[in-house]
Amino acid sequence: MTTPRLLIIGPQGSGKGTQGERIAKAYGIPAVSTGDVFRANVKEGTPLGLQVKAIIDAGDLVPDALTGEIVRDRLAQDDAAAGFLLDGYPRNIGQVGDLDAFLDERDEPLTAVVELSVPREESITRIAKRASEQGRADDNDESIAKRLAIYESETAPVLDVYRERGIVDAIDGVGTLDEVFERIIVALTARGIVPAT
Ligand code: AMP
Repeated sequence: MTTPRLLIIGPQGSGKGTQGERIAKAYGIPAVSTGDVFRANVKEGTPLGLQVKAIIDAGDLVPDALTGEIVRDRLAQDDAAAGFLLDGYPRNIGQVGDLDAFLDERDEPLTAVVELSVPREESITRIAKRASEQGRADDNDESIAKRLAIYESETAPVLDVYRERGIVDAIDGVGTLDEVFERIIVALTARGIVPAT
């Protein structure tokens, strides 16, 4: 059994948040979403939240040093010892280096990267739907366009690095939640990463 030290990557609106939660539940590991951590802090008005609100609303990336610190603190907690699922981190090449440094020190490399793909038109439709349902401040046209552009320019190269390491599973993100989830579990199981339940 390979330890589930996982990362899920996909453009905004690919369903990675929802699938990430389901994967985490199936493997009994914490889902670590940097976007969720930032949103919770903004909502509660913490010093971190006040620091990052304008950046997030504009669709820009929070500085690497700050984001890295949050992830390291979270991964160092006891419940992440038997595995974890990262959602939304690392998002650029600098963050890959920061995460590698942390995981190498612990001799705990990532064991699989789930790449969730959906066509651009489909992700835009899904974000628009979420915007009307959840009212996220960063789900406005300008911010959405910026986030998709950042995904293509900064986050897509992250996948190239992991592809070279042979740990990426490309998953078609079009279909029902159950269908996409099933594809992910099949791919991870083939790597010896077997669900706990
Ligand atoms: P998400 O929910 O993953 O789409 O993240 C929402 C927003 O949080 C992003 O548009 C960024 O402003 C910020 N954010 C989340 N993860 C990161 C990260 N790894 N690096 C920098 N900013 C991030």
